[in-house]
Amino acid sequence: MDANLYSLIERHAPPGGNEPCLVEPGGPVVHYDDLFAMSARVAHALVAAGCEPGDRVAAQVDKHWHVLALYLACLRAGLVYLPLNTGYQRSELEYFFADARPRVIVCQPDRLGTIAAGQRAATVLTLAELMDRAASAPTAFATVPRGADDLAAILYTSGTTGRSKGAMITHRNLASNALALVAEWGFTRGDVLLHALPIYHVHGLFVAIHCVLLSGARMLWLPKFDAQEVTALLPRATVMMGVPTFYTRLLGEPAFGRDACATIRLFVSGSAPLLAETFEAFEARTGQAILERYGMTEAGMITSNPLTGPRRAGTVGTPLPGIEVRIVDEQGTPCADEAIGGVEVRGPNIFAGYWQMPEKTRAEFTADGYFKTGDIGQWVDAGAGTPYLRIVGRAKDLIITGGLNVYPKEIEERIDALDGVVESAVVGVPDADFGEAVAAVVVRRGGAALTEAQVIAALTGEIARFKVPKRVIFVDDLPRNAMGKVQKAVLRDRFAAP
Ligand code: AMP
Repeated sequence: MDANLYSLIERHAPPGGNEPCLVEPGGPVVHYDDLFAMSARVAHALVAAGCEPGDRVAAQVDKHWHVLALYLACLRAGLVYLPLNTGYQRSELEYFFADARPRVIVCQPDRLGTIAAGQRAATVLTLAELMDRAASAPTAFATVPRGADDLAAILYTSGTTGRSKGAMITHRNLASNALALVAEWGFTRGDVLLHALPIYHVHGLFVAIHCVLLSGARMLWLPKFDAQEVTALLPRATVMMGVPTFYTRLLGEPAFGRDACATIRLFVSGSAPLLAETFEAFEARTGQAILERYGMTEAGMITSNPLTGPRRAGTVGTPLPGIEVRIVDEQGTPCADEAIGGVEVRGPNIFAGYWQMPEKTRAEFTADGYFKTGDIGQWVDAGAGTPYLRIVGRAKDLIITGGLNVYPKEIEERIDALDGVVESAVVGVPDADFGEAVAAVVVRRGGAALTEAQVIAALTGEIARFKVPKRVIFVDDLPRNAMGKVQKAVLRDRFAAP
């Protein structure tokens, strides 16, 4: 049977196709049949450029509905879509192109010359040029049948250390995850999703868009997140998905409150940890409990707090249907009770491996088929009958000081709870004596006069001595990447010197 995700999307479209799919405030309304017709045209243009099933098509372009048509065109033509963060620079792009060898590269006009000069084996063109080529092509295209294990996309992980790895995502991965989310989060044709996320990442591209397309819903499509604009537009939406930064920025917006959220049935947060403080402040301000979920490029969505039932701050909920999650100790043995350990995941959502890195792929899987996420977690009793998962940190963020393990999250939560603290990040810095020493990087509330000695004093006696930071550094902001993740590697580098 054809397992092409596009065929599934087509089957779930509103009958007749004349329903809006994507609405740009002050811009065009794109109906489902417009989107499908455009994807057919682009699919013809890609085939005419020499693409054959299995070929890669790379895109580093600004958010536009034509990019969505390009993604669907790749699915239809059996091509492998390779979205690239718009922030990537020349040397990073060269690595991705050399690694993935795309047949077509769609890029920003200001990059065209340099990329075209370096990538002679590919057709390099701007989105506008691709659309020109597509304009005269037919609006029907016979979708290329795909097996469930055929590749639909390659997404390079935003690895902060070592070489970025291309995660191979199959049609099965995307379809199974999307169907699970539509059901779990109760998406229907009546939903309007406010889409302000970038579309080169799993969150904005797969989670948000697939929930809409597989329920025949529509989206309010914004080029980027702006708290004031979003506050004004929320009354036209029923669902918003965001990274935690979206929620903290909304809380900083004076006009944001209960009225702005009156039509919203669901706020979803993910891609980085949502501070318990943000969850609570948001609930106090709007009456809405943000639903936090957990996922990653290699696994799509893994766990979610419930649509109905308690949503617990600081947890990421329970495994999605069909997905198994376990916590293991350093020997790979499943941990008992609430012990902290590595998070491993198995299910139809798990990617097919890293592009051209069979050894790296093997190293990240267990003999019984679990993927080692590299996250550290624990099961906690959330009072809901089933334990909820709590993410404690990344394995690579683990601090080992004098041979003892320190999980940054535990220290960060205590510092965040101190008066005068907005947020904190705890990292390991080189230490002649202990190998690594615990250092806390803290953002103070405006006007707060908190000192290093006060932070250290507040923690002393509360937690084991080896966990108490040796240094506390105050900064105005924590460095974050486009998805809102605190860049701990940047902090480690910046504060490496004593
Ligand atoms: P990415 O592949 O860029 O989506 O990053 C995936 C990583 O983001 C995961 O392995 C986690 O470390 C982190 N992450 C995603 N969602 C959450 C969450 N709700 N809480 C904590 N960490 C998260």
